[in-house]
Amino acid sequence: MIVAIANQKGGVGKTTTAVNLAAALAMRGKKTLLIDLDPQANSSLSFLDLSSVTRSTYDAITEPGCELADVIQSSAVANLSIAPARIGLAKLESRLVGELDAHFRLKDKIKALNGAYTHIVIDCPPALGLLTVNALVAATHLLIPIQSSYFALEGTDDLLETIEKVRQRANPGLRILGVVITMHDKRTALARDIREQIQKVFGGKVFQTVITKSVRLEESPAYKESIFTFAPDSTGATDYYSLCEEVIERVEARTA
Ligand code: ATP
Ligand code: MG
Repeated sequence: MIVAIANQKGGVGKTTTAVNLAAALAMRGKKTLLIDLDPQANSSLSFLDLSSVTRSTYDAITEPGCELADVIQSSAVANLSIAPARIGLAKLESRLVGELDAHFRLKDKIKALNGAYTHIVIDCPPALGLLTVNALVAATHLLIPIQSSYFALEGTDDLLETIEKVRQRANPGLRILGVVITMHDKRTALARDIREQIQKVFGGKVFQTVITKSVRLEESPAYKESIFTFAPDSTGATDYYSLCEEVIERVEARTA
């Protein structure tokens, strides 16, 4: 399974979902790789010290002589490795302009890993540019985090349009694994309305698991830990564990 975590809206919980889903998969014994495709490098920073990053996903995507294996680092979590990002990724678009295989770079580099990881999670930047398209072309599945907010569905049309374009030629097999509602506040009527609205648009694609608002989820990256070691008894840990269960179920049952 290669799952891209994408939504071009900023701050909706992509990185939090990528980091904790990857950690949950690793804890379940799956050999997991987290690929950071965001120049902000937030998911890399959730596990690594960026001073230890000499080569990044940018080098692997742009340099013919650099493979993902050359940039991957192990993390403190057993079974979890990280392909870290650096700010240089922001130059990718201009660097690859005019290259015929610009959309296929990540796919080719993942292929060169020869199945070393059974589960790959890709954290995308908040844009529908070349980086996110590289992730969608390389992925078998897409997971869309949607923030429980009044503007939740803004921009999802553009995202769905991009998915369709990718499916038409570059990656016909791309499946929508599901939509996960994040930063949900069960107590408010507005949040319940928003959940209904999202369900109207995405139907059965919406995961049963909803990620509730949790300060612990905000805090854990600063300690370079996933929620499972930082606050194992928090709602954040329970929520992401149960999301991981649903993800595995959907992939294994091929219902996604
Ligand atoms: P960007 O588009 O900038 O990459 P993102 O979509 O990756 O953002 P995150 O970085 O995961 O979003 O989350 C945005 C902010 O919200 C972060 O400060 C994060 O700690 C916080 N956050 C994410 N999920 C939750 C949650 N369930 N409860 C409370 N805070 C959360
Ligand atoms: Mg992010």
